Amino acid sequence: MIIMLVENKNILYAPGRQKYIEASKKKESKNLKKCVFCKSEKDLLILESKTCFICANKYPYGTGHLLIIPKRHVNSITDLTTKERIEIFNSIDLCVYALDIYLKPDGFNIGASIGDVAGQSISHLHFHILPRFQGDVGWNVLLNFKVLSVSPKDVVLEIKKTITKFKLKKKFGLV
Ligand SMILES: [Zn+2]
Repeated sequence: MIIMLVENKNILYAPGRQKYIEASKKKESKNLKKCVFCKSEKDLLILESKTCFICANKYPYGTGHLLIIPKRHVNSITDLTTKERIEIFNSIDLCVYALDIYLKPDGFNIGASIGDVAGQSISHLHFHILPRFQGDVGWNVLLNFKVLSVSPKDVVLEIKKTITKFKLKKKFGLV
């Protein structure tokens, strides 16, 4: 690889990287066709807003595990538009509010894994909302042991009912 230093000492010019970047962009557009989050799974869909979906996780780490998925195929939070950022955060807020009513958890894990090294399995940005209960096992252990008392389909039904009953779409600006 050729690396050149240009006039500004803070910039490294590495033309050899261009090939790598172009190849990874091609790979990305190929993966788009296979991306499971680009095809929303309607049976686990809870709420669709203009820019994102709220779904139950098909492979939950624990009871009530929800996902917020932007409709656009982006893989970095820095690629989100202001509107997407607002709707995603409002959706996280709505999920926590609805899960508090439905399952009364003792806490939550909320977050996104970005990059292979962080354990990301699907290259389409998504946020996890995982209700936590006193006495349950840790996040990492949950990846290997799944003991669920409620199926994801029941979670979808109950959260949808909660959204309607408490008018949460309006409350969180997702109409
Ligand atoms: Zn996608």
